[in-house]
Amino acid sequence: MILLDGKSVAAARREALKPRVESFKSKVGRAPHLSVVLVGDDPASRVYVRNKEKACHNTGIDSKVYNLPADISQEALDQQIEILNADTTVDGILVQLPVPKHLSVESIMKKIKPEKDADGLTYMNSGFLLAGNAIVKPCTPLGIMRILEHYKINVEGMKAVVVGRSQIVGKPMTLLLSDANATVTMCHSKTKDLKSYTLNADIVVVAAGKRRFLGRGDFKAGSVVIDVGMHGSGAGELCGDVRFEELLDVAAAITPVPGGVGPMTICSLLENTVQLAELRAINYQK
Ligand code: NAP
Repeated sequence: MILLDGKSVAAARREALKPRVESFKSKVGRAPHLSVVLVGDDPASRVYVRNKEKACHNTGIDSKVYNLPADISQEALDQQIEILNADTTVDGILVQLPVPKHLSVESIMKKIKPEKDADGLTYMNSGFLLAGNAIVKPCTPLGIMRILEHYKINVEGMKAVVVGRSQIVGKPMTLLLSDANATVTMCHSKTKDLKSYTLNADIVVVAAGKRRFLGRGDFKAGSVVIDVGMHGSGAGELCGDVRFEELLDVAAAITPVPGGVGPMTICSLLENTVQLAELRAINYQK
């Protein structure tokens, strides 16, 4: 069984990113910059944002977090995004999701300039992704493709099942696997007999958001299992959507939680930010 070690793959990719950051600095006179907007004080979101900030810092990327009150109006949030859109020293913008219920994710995804979309989730970039020519791709599915690449797991011709159809994970994951020539089935909460799909798959990406949801009897021997789920925020109590310990002698390869998909997601955010910064720098020179 191969442990798909996202923590060390992400660390190696961050190292590889540093020369690009240095080269950008020497050409442009400043570091690539990511602005993160955090609305409210959801504890899990705070932890995610802190980890993103730390990763930026360790890679030489400049970042700033805007802490906005939970009761901020849509108009005031839109204004903040407009300010960041217009600021020429900002290369990437990320609004940490989820946002409080009274705010519209649709409005946020339409408001962020696609050329500053570090998360790759704006509607414009989702359209490019559908067309197969996205500049930046959503961080979690991108991180998953990169960990597969690292371990030389070629999905071409594989039967792939994605459990979940969210805008952030499931849908873009389906597209990226299909672009890599897997034959993909996307399952969701209304899927009848989920097990009949997962049990026949060569690779399963589980993003249902349900703690320890699938285990030994749900997967084919020798399959690749990618666990996107993230539950709990304290040390030692994190777990995923998959009962990891049951699969050690079933899966050919599996991501742990923590240390699998999570670090790869953050790494993709850094890579997207640097890519957007480089593209903006080229456009200045034209
Ligand atoms: P989400 O928006 O809640 O979507 C969950 C999806 O799972 C939905 O499409 C839902 O179907 C489907 N689902 C729910 N119950 C199901 C069931 N019994 N059988 C089959 N499908 C079912 O969640 P998300 O944002 O995609 O995130 C999923 C998980 O990944 C969460 O635990 C989240 O914390 C984690 N996550 C981790 C990272 C990371 O970097 N590690 C990044 C993003 C998310 P319907 O569409 O029918 O409701």
